[in-house]
Amino acid sequence: MNSTRPHVLVVGAGPAGLVAALTLLQNGIPVRIIDKDPNPRIGQRGPGIAPRSLELFNFLDVPEVNELGKPMPIVRSFKLGTLESPKESSMVPDLEPTPAIPFHIPKMMGQQLLDVILRRHLEKFSCAVEMGTELRSFEQSDEGVTTVLAKNGILETFDTKWVIGADGAKGIVRKHLGLTFLGETREDVRMVMGDIRLRGVGLDRTYWHRFGTMKRGLSLRPTDEVGEDGWQFIISDNDVDLTKVAQSEELIFETITSLVPTEVTFNKLVWVSEYRANIRMVNKFSEGRVFVAGDAAHVHSPTGGTQFKYTRCCQSRLEACARRKRTRRQVSP
Ligand SMILES: Cc1cc2nc3c(=O)[nH]c(=O)nc-3n(C[C@H](O)[C@H](O)[C@H](O)COP(=O)(O)OP(=O)(O)OC[C@H]3O[C@@H](n4cnc5c(N)ncnc54)[C@H](O)[C@@H]3O)c2cc1C
Repeated sequence: MNSTRPHVLVVGAGPAGLVAALTLLQNGIPVRIIDKDPNPRIGQRGPGIAPRSLELFNFLDVPEVNELGKPMPIVRSFKLGTLESPKESSMVPDLEPTPAIPFHIPKMMGQQLLDVILRRHLEKFSCAVEMGTELRSFEQSDEGVTTVLAKNGILETFDTKWVIGADGAKGIVRKHLGLTFLGETREDVRMVMGDIRLRGVGLDRTYWHRFGTMKRGLSLRPTDEVGEDGWQFIISDNDVDLTKVAQSEELIFETITSLVPTEVTFNKLVWVSEYRANIRMVNKFSEGRVFVAGDAAHVHSPTGGTQFKYTRCCQSRLEACARRKRTRRQVSP
């Protein structure tokens, strides 16, 4: 194997692959990072950055995530068909930062912007994501991994020492390793999510709006990352074919109009995706010289991921804090 070649091939340039590449480069380990998409992805996707992730970005010297990320807006929940008497709630506990917990609240940042920030940090190490480059197969031995990559229909054999499969939930690395991905797919939790530009009479951009319920409802989160009239939307409706809705701009506009009781002007549908809740995990995170990371290794329901992790994290820290206080009281004269 040519020793000047990068020691690690990172497959996939979503958040997990970009963070893996940056971490290795900062530790003096050369990396090659590829993504099969020809262009950087658009879409806010999962925008909630939990406090622990903010801490990790701080350690990685990526301050922009905390600086540019926005606090979660107050949620205004409306009954379907009305813009009157909303219930207001906060998704985050009322905590102050402390020296021990400086990053105490989650921030909102779309993955599109997060990816741009992380790519800029990779550039400092003269590392660029090779777009339109797909991992097709690989074989490993005690000495290294031989991979087959495809770009513009041309195959390349690339030898490396280690591979990190950050190629998402449907990626080939996990499958090729024969790892299990046990768990469940919740057919009853379906939604259409996306980024949209619209204006609605009476929609206040300082609030996150929720109309109806998870069975039939709409979430509209204002986000300037999409535009001054930009929102991330989530449509849920157990009674309609959401696959059909996700494929039609007209149906998306119609559905939103039916769920928001005010005059809405649609400017642009920027990105859309259909989502089914998946809760799955691998039986192990590596086999020989090949690792899996991010969604390739574990996926969860959006309602059970960030918030759950955040609540548990805060809960365990508060419990630890209370324990320390109790101990201090016991030892003080
Ligand atoms: C509705 C919803 C809400 C969510 N909300 C949140 C949230 O608030 N906070 C949060 O932290 N997470 C959230 N998530 C989860 C979050 O979006 C994912 O965990 C995250 O995108 C996973 O990142 P990743 O880098 O592992 O994979 P991905 O982002 O899926 O990236 C994988 C990359 O690998 C590339 N690839 C695939 N196969 C190959 C190949 N063979 N060769 C080369 N490249 C390949 C793909 O093109 C892709 O770019 C949410 C998810 C959903 C669906």
